[in-house]
Amino acid sequence: MDADTTSQAPPASTHTSPGPQEQAAPLFFDLIEMAYGPNDKIDDVILVVKDYHVGTAITIRASIYVLAAASKVFRALFSDRYAEGQSLSAGRKEVHLEDPPKSLLILCQLLHHLPVYEVEFFDGTDGVLLIEGLVGFASVIDKYDCVHHLHLSSYALLHKTLHEYNARTAFQVKEGVAFAAAAYILNHSRLFKDMTRELVHEQSGNFRKQDPDVLQYLPDRFMEIVESQRMYIEREINSIITILVEEVITEACKTSKTHIIVLFLENLENHGFWPLTHTPLPAAEVIYMLPKIDIPMLLAEADRAGASQSPKAALAISVKHLKLICKGLCLDCLKDNGLCRVQHLRESVNPAGISMADWGMKVTAEEQAAADSAARLHDG
Ligand SMILES: [Zn+2]
Repeated sequence: MDADTTSQAPPASTHTSPGPQEQAAPLFFDLIEMAYGPNDKIDDVILVVKDYHVGTAITIRASIYVLAAASKVFRALFSDRYAEGQSLSAGRKEVHLEDPPKSLLILCQLLHHLPVYEVEFFDGTDGVLLIEGLVGFASVIDKYDCVHHLHLSSYALLHKTLHEYNARTAFQVKEGVAFAAAAYILNHSRLFKDMTRELVHEQSGNFRKQDPDVLQYLPDRFMEIVESQRMYIEREINSIITILVEEVITEACKTSKTHIIVLFLENLENHGFWPLTHTPLPAAEVIYMLPKIDIPMLLAEADRAGASQSPKAALAISVKHLKLICKGLCLDCLKDNGLCRVQHLRESVNPAGISMADWGMKVTAEEQAAADSAARLHDG
């Protein structure tokens, strides 16, 4: 395209103003200049992309305009300030980059409005999620400063990939951390909250050490915060089961039907709830299984009488409580974004004795006032 044709005067307006006074200039948006700047080159570039670690290289022919319009980093690289730009000015087309080649290819495809599918993030032969590919994709978008520009398309791609992952396999912590890292890098607060909630709810026992190559993209305290939420849920579950067992023992002793205690504990053991010292069940499984526990007849009588504190009613409240607490982490608090796009824990279910700051969440003035008033009520 000839650069001169892009700065033609706009077509004259057919609208005539009533007076002889100066005509107001029609609104004119020069999208070309807005996107690219007056001195940018409209031309092709050949990106030779080499992976520093693996050594594989690919070649991508792309539009300088498209890349420069979306990315300040590309714009600077193609300018005369850099050797790459000077080389382009001298008529050479190749620019050498060191990046994960496939990730850079996906970035270029998205920027050129070419289709990209979630299969890119799975191993073609056995359908396993490619963690490096997923995190590499997010980090390349961040490196070239396209997080904002590709907000919607990166969200759609991550979402589709997550769907595909869930359809292919049961949730694994390693993959969950990778999705959380990608969501964190790409600034998707809802997805980040959902993934961290999934981590807290699906993990059985302590979190093991995670891949430092993935963790480097997350806040230093990330695993500590997630583990702290998981431990809190574990304690809540233990307390729910302990109270239930105590109630059964008390009622069984009162009515001299102590054999019920053994039957009940066996029942709990079959569901994996007993003994408490065993590897703890993931919260998600407890939330699913808890309402299915058979309550011994002598306690269940209270249910039939419709008592508000009947064991079944108390269990239902406990399950609701477990669902409400530990909803995952707020990306905006962790990144100091100023405005939180996801809801924090509700004041009524904020865990007792836990500082929200320890869970990576800033406490708003409103939340602080609610907490203070709750503390005053408690003290009074
Ligand atoms: Zn927040």
